[in-house]
Amino acid sequence: MSRSQLSGRFDLAVVGAGIVGLATAFAAARRGLRVIVIDRDAQANGASVRNFGFVTVTGQERGSMWARARHSREVWCEVAAAAGIPIVHTGLWMCARRPESVGVLEAFMATEMAADCRLLTPAEARRRCPQLSAPELAAVLESTIELRVESRQAIPRLAAWLASAHGVTVMRNTTVCAIDAPNVDTSSGRVQADRVAVCPGDDFNGLYPERLEAYALTRCKLQMLRLAAPGFKLPGALMSDLGLGRYRGYADLAAAAPLKARLAVEQAQHLKHGIHLIVVQCADGSLIVGDSHHYASTPDPFSYEAIDALILDEFRSALGIEPPPTIERWIGTYASAADRPVLIDAPEPSVRIAIVTCGAGASTGFAIGEEVIASLFDVVAAP
Ligand SMILES: Cc1cc2nc3c(=O)[nH]c(=O)nc-3n(C[C@H](O)[C@H](O)[C@H](O)COP(=O)(O)OP(=O)(O)OC[C@H]3O[C@@H](n4cnc5c(N)ncnc54)[C@H](O)[C@@H]3O)c2cc1C
Repeated sequence: MSRSQLSGRFDLAVVGAGIVGLATAFAAARRGLRVIVIDRDAQANGASVRNFGFVTVTGQERGSMWARARHSREVWCEVAAAAGIPIVHTGLWMCARRPESVGVLEAFMATEMAADCRLLTPAEARRRCPQLSAPELAAVLESTIELRVESRQAIPRLAAWLASAHGVTVMRNTTVCAIDAPNVDTSSGRVQADRVAVCPGDDFNGLYPERLEAYALTRCKLQMLRLAAPGFKLPGALMSDLGLGRYRGYADLAAAAPLKARLAVEQAQHLKHGIHLIVVQCADGSLIVGDSHHYASTPDPFSYEAIDALILDEFRSALGIEPPPTIERWIGTYASAADRPVLIDAPEPSVRIAIVTCGAGASTGFAIGEEVIASLFDVVAAP
């Protein structure tokens, strides 16, 4: 980073180059603002590259999260085309194997959230994808609106495109230590910016810790697997009964109560470890499969075979095939709050903190970035 690139005053400094920080930078840059993004890591290494890259609309919490996801999905389409980020696949199949799950799908179909969805019979589903052969398959909710990007490539490409096409300065290997706008003090010296967006992911102790303490944040740890290519193409992302009991767009419906009661009896171990199934496919045919959910302020960094076995057990039940060999394992963490899906806070008039606290940042980040920029730049001054 040359001194001349850093000289002068920026309109906006963004702390954090995960999806939330980059989306916020994009919302500002497309308004013609001069933007710098600062991240402590040499390359993207947080939740934004450890996730499924699954831009999920159907199943998001009814109301503002669902609307944010729909809008973010539109922005992903626009940005992916412009930045050369492949959409690896589209669509979602919620595979129901219990009568109670079919009840949830039918209730969901009666809501406004089913705009891009239809119900498939098991016969229709098998015609479309004969390899999905779970004998208990009772119905499939097909949603056509979902997208999948390969986050490991998409996030670096998004950052590079913001720099090349929008003139955003991206400063890496640099920790932001203190903010007193317009002064942003970093491990590489002082940057000046009129406004600052702090998008720190699940780091709650670095900047404004006293402010963040009030939100009672914690971290959620997830175990993830990559399986070898199964030898066929999935019809989209796949989820199962456990997802219907967990994703709030379905789980908050009254019709979900009987399913949750049955899952509590039949899949107590899965629920204990917060397991629900997501399967997405990569360009080379391999599968990203997860996940589990364990909450702690500092989760341990270890991946447990017993948890992977439970995830693979649900894979077997939902897809009706033996899981292909595991070729990679990793863990990820994201910020979590019991009482809200997103936090946008104003510790100072010219500073906003933005944290997605429900594990849906890839799906909602672009909408949240726009909200942060509107709140920083569109406020009408009091007379
Ligand atoms: C395993 C896993 C699977 C997931 N799957 C999905 C999914 O399929 N779909 C979906 O929508 N969401 C998913 N999520 C959630 C989603 O990935 C997160 O909500 C999202 O990535 C959060 O983005 P972020 O930018 O806030 O955080 P991060 O990606 O963690 O980025 C924060 C950045 O801030 C930097 N930073 C922090 N403090 C400082 C500082 N003081 N100075 C400089 N830099 C700093 C960090 O270095 C980091 O790069 C998943 C998450 C995980 C972990």
